[in-house]
Amino acid sequence: MRISRISVYQLALPLSKPYWLSGGRLRFDALDSTLVCVETDEGVAGWGEGCPWGSSYLPAFGKGIRAGIDEIAPSLLGLDPRGLDVINRVMDAALPGHLYAKSPLDMACWDVLGKATGLPLCELLGGREAGDVLLHSSISTGTPDDMVGDLEASRHRGYVIHSFKIGADIKLDRERITSISNALLPKEQATFDVNRAWLCDQAIRVMNDMREFGGYYEQPCETLEECSKVRRATQQPMILDECIQTFSDLKRADALSACEAIGLKLGRVGGITRARRMRDFCVAVGLRMNIEETGGSVLADTAAVHLAQSTPETHRRATWLSHDMLSTDVAPGQGARNDHGVTRAPRVPGIGVIPESDRIDAACAVYD
Ligand code: MG
Repeated sequence: MRISRISVYQLALPLSKPYWLSGGRLRFDALDSTLVCVETDEGVAGWGEGCPWGSSYLPAFGKGIRAGIDEIAPSLLGLDPRGLDVINRVMDAALPGHLYAKSPLDMACWDVLGKATGLPLCELLGGREAGDVLLHSSISTGTPDDMVGDLEASRHRGYVIHSFKIGADIKLDRERITSISNALLPKEQATFDVNRAWLCDQAIRVMNDMREFGGYYEQPCETLEECSKVRRATQQPMILDECIQTFSDLKRADALSACEAIGLKLGRVGGITRARRMRDFCVAVGLRMNIEETGGSVLADTAAVHLAQSTPETHRRATWLSHDMLSTDVAPGQGARNDHGVTRAPRVPGIGVIPESDRIDAACAVYD
């Protein structure tokens, strides 16, 4: 089986409501997504997606994915898409780094492998765990009252784990954490995701002041070293997210005992192949994971749900569904959806999401 054509589609994904990260530093109301279709000489086609969470969250942006694919795609023509390690080595030789541009190509090749073998992706990634995949909400930063209002709306949609975006103004952050913690029900859990907005001394002071409330704290500062300092001076469990980009980052975080969990986002680490290696390391050393995407439609989300579904329940915290915050849908009725706070990987071969042709524009690039 050989790759005969790679088609690239740009897709604007409007959010249901505007989103603010970290004290209003990052505001946006639509995502710039890229869909990829990898076709083969045997008639099997696979779909992948790459979608940064806006352009200012990570060193990644929508146009960058398409520019990266333009460099890489010609090298993949004629290769067997089922040989995922070879595919990734060829991508690395064609363009070192630029992990997020490789993720949609890697994902599309995994979809081909699933369809060619007749197996859902989770079966190829280690086997389907019996339990459902627990979801968490993502709550945009705002006033304490706004955030408690969004908590109540998320609760009504079945979520019991909520990720609150805070950061930048530590006086207001104390008020946010206090109001939110007092509003949580006994069965609910909070993650306070700072998205790198605090300095070490701010993180240490706020977290120690807020110790009575518990909750996980996520990526309080910019770097792994800063977060590790904070971890040593505080009690609350910590999740590292943006600073874990490569396997080496993960190994270093574990060696520093810098976190209890990581955010494992397919797009950020370069796709399913690399995310699976990191997942397996986390299982081996006892780290928990939020396995999810950086953003995107139900296609990208469902790929991440397959990885979560094949991960021991003991090592999962929760999965976020980006598409649950969008006002459009490229594949109605398909893929992993929010079902009262949980989801599950589809039981059809591959990822199980094929975008509807009348919901996407013509290809913006074709390689054959
Ligand atoms: Mg995060």
